[in-house]
Order: sequence, then structure tokens, then C-alpha cells
Amino acid sequence: MDTEIIIAGGGLVGNALAIALAQGGLDVAVIDPLPRTQQLEAGFDGRTSAISSGSVRILSHIGAWQHIAPFAQPIHDIRVCDQDKPGYVHYSDKDVGEPFGYIIENNRLRRGLYLALEATSGIRCVSGKVTGLLQDSHAATAQLEDGSSLRAPLLIAADGRFSKLREQAGIPHRVISYHQSAIVCVIEHAQPHEGLALEKFYPVGPFAVLPLKPTEEGTNRSGIVWTEHEDDAAQYLDLPDTEFDAELQRRIGDAATGYWGEVHAVGKRFCYPLKLMHAERFIAPRVALVGDAAHGIHPIAGQGVNLGYRDVAVLAQLLVEQRRLGLDIGSEEVLARYQRWRRFDSFSMTASTDILNRLFSNNIPGMSLIRRAGMVAVDNLPPVKKFFMRHAMGLVGDLPKMMQPPEAA
Ligand SMILES: Cc1cc2nc3c(=O)[nH]c(=O)nc-3n(C[C@H](O)[C@H](O)[C@H](O)COP(=O)(O)OP(=O)(O)OC[C@H]3O[C@@H](n4cnc5c(N)ncnc54)[C@H](O)[C@@H]3O)c2cc1C
Repeated sequence: MDTEIIIAGGGLVGNALAIALAQGGLDVAVIDPLPRTQQLEAGFDGRTSAISSGSVRILSHIGAWQHIAPFAQPIHDIRVCDQDKPGYVHYSDKDVGEPFGYIIENNRLRRGLYLALEATSGIRCVSGKVTGLLQDSHAATAQLEDGSSLRAPLLIAADGRFSKLREQAGIPHRVISYHQSAIVCVIEHAQPHEGLALEKFYPVGPFAVLPLKPTEEGTNRSGIVWTEHEDDAAQYLDLPDTEFDAELQRRIGDAATGYWGEVHAVGKRFCYPLKLMHAERFIAPRVALVGDAAHGIHPIAGQGVNLGYRDVAVLAQLLVEQRRLGLDIGSEEVLARYQRWRRFDSFSMTASTDILNRLFSNNIPGMSLIRRAGMVAVDNLPPVKKFFMRHAMGLVGDLPKMMQPPEAA
């Protein structure tokens, strides 16, 4: 064997898993074709991520959070509204006693993970693309584009929602196109955001304003995730700056009296087609799927990478325990335990984000009234509100050790 575990894909999830496994004493090889310098450029993916409190516990446990925290903006309030109609659901972190989570630019997350990875022994980073997979009763072999190969008792596919490894392992998956695209950019605005995240639901899809840490010079900034029909996104994306800003301002609210004041988009604009992808199984002989390779969900609730971090916490716990007991780390039994543990959470999050998007992204007569009645009801039912908040924070269900509060872990 060349190593104990091969991870195909060194993205936000694959690198976190590599660190967690290596800290547990396992030898790991992470294979990714993208040069690190490219992944760390601010213009690489342009996204910001809402990182839940549960994920912060995982990132702290693996020693990455200390590098990320200085760039992380706590979310203190969340406001959810139906288009520009009166009334909204307001979630306040005062009701749960800690920030809901944090908004962080993805390149800051990646950098923090790389710093933690460099400080961990037992990880071999291989630059290359996995193009083939061989499985037998003892091991999996990853074949790389350059003709080389690596063999280990377990291969973990963390190669994203278009995972080739999932296909090669013969795991069927389901894809549903939302016929929506997300336009992503960063804005600067006149008024401070005070940690407020806004989600407005328009018939074409959700529009989110996510608070970012101000710049060193004190400039107020937020991230934008603006959903449009897939056929219309390009026309907005290509607008000249002043017209693009005017479209943003129209959705965000009045420049003179609105919460954020005057807004301007800065930097590059990005566009992501939105699709649901769910793998029928998370395991195959000598193979496990994690992150978007297992489940790619709608960004409506900012939960995709948080689900991936929960995969990391569960799989690392099971494999490290298996290794400590001297048992086979790629056995059918341990992989089946991983699948059982992760299936419900991943399926329920995929289904709830899908339902939420369908419920709000339409113009069906009468639906707006039903939506608003539901929002008023939720806003006036503190226990229901609290349940939603703790769910979004990733703090419900059978939590792995890395996610338990420090005193319980
Ligand atoms: C607009 C938008 C907004 C989002 N906002 C949020 C949010 O606020 N909060 C949140 O939790 N989630 C959010 N998400 C989801 C989140 O971005 C994803 O869940 C996350 O990026 C998945 O990480 P991953 O590591 O599984 O996959 P990826 O990030 O796709 O990484 C896959 C890695 O595998 C590598 N790779 C690919 N093929 C191969 C191969 N053949 N061999 C080796 N390596 C390979 C790639 O180079 C890449 O580095 C959002 C998504 C979108 C589209």
C-alpha cells in the first residue's frame, strides 16, 4: 500500500478531512489538480460562505479556525422576507446566546485550511487529477492522468458535485436543475451592516445580502447571492457597472433611507448554475463520498459546505476509532456505519432546501398570502423559531465528538 487513505479532491471539504484524519494518526494522500496558488487567489471562486456554529467547532478542532477567525463576520440577526412586501421573520442571536454562524470569503477559508494542513504531519499533497479507479477486496487504486497510481485500503471522493470518482465507483445519483443561476459578488455600502443577513424571496429565486468583515480601512462590505432564471443571468452579469449597481440597489432598498445606504459592487462577478444532486449511496467497496460529491444542495440556506463538514467529523471519528482498534479502515462495516449516520441529515437538508426554494420561488396566485401567514406564525412562535435556528446552526441530531461543546467532547 502507498498510504492508508487517499482523498481525491483537496477543496474545502477534502482538505479539512485530510487534517482531521492525519491528526488522528492516519497517513493520508490528498490529490488535486489545481495549484494551491490558484485556489488562494481572491478571484478564484468569488463566493462567501455562511459557516454555522457547528462547523466552527469542527474547524477549531482541526486547528484551522484560528487562521480564519480574524476574517469571519459574526451573524447577529437574520431577516427573511417575501419580495418587498411588508412583514418579515426576524431571527436574533440573543435568542440562542451565540452568533448563528459567520460569513467568510471562500479564499480565506481555503487559506486557513492550508495553514492547518501545513502544520499537520502525515499528509502528502499530490498535484494531479484522478482519472481511473480500481477496487478489489483489499484496496482501492487511484489512477492519475500522468500515468502514476496510488493504492490504499480506502479512497475518499471529495471531488465536488460533478464527481468522476462517484461515477467510476458505480454510484448512481439524482440531478434536478432549478433552471436558476446565482450571481455572486461583493458590495461596498455606506451604512454598517451590524451583522445583519437579509434573505428576500423573489419569484425567480432568493436574493441574499451577507455581512462581511469591514476592510482594514473600515469600508463596509457584504456578499451578494442573487438568483435569476438561468436564461436571464448572463444579461445581468454583463451590465455596465452603474446599471448593475442600480439593479442591486433596487433589490436591496432605497439608497437614502434603506438599511445599507448606497451600494456599489466591487471586484469580479461570478455565476453558478444551481442544481440539486444527491448520490443514491455514499459508499462503494473501498470508497466513501464526502461533501458535494455526496450531496450538492441549493444555496438558499447556506448549508452546502456545512453538511460537508459534518461528513468530515463523522467519517474521521469512525476511521480513527477503527484504526485505534487495529481494524480494517476500509471495511464494509465501517463504511456502512458512516452511511447510516450521515444519510438522514443529508437527505433532510437536501429535501428542506429544495422545498423552501419551490415554496418561495414562484408566483402562484394565493401562495404569497400563505407564505406570509406562515412567516407571521413562525415569527410569533418562539419554540419553532428556536428549533429552526438551532437546526441552521448545525447543533441538532446525533453530533459527532468534534461538534460537541468542549466540556462534553
Ligand atoms: C452560489 C453558492 C453559494 C454557496 N454558499 C454557501 C454558504 O453560504 N454556506 C455553505 O455551507 N455552502 C455554500 N455553498 C456550497 C459550497 O460552496 C459547497 O458545498 C462546497 O464548495 C463543497 O466543497 P467540496 O470540497 O465538497 O467540493 P468542491 O469545492 O467542488 O471541491 C472539489 C475539489 O476536487 C477537485 N477535483 C475535481 N475533480 C478531481 C479529480 N478528478 N481528481 C482530483 N481532484 C479533483 C477540485 O479541483 C476541487 O478542488 C454555496 C454554493 C454556491 C454555488
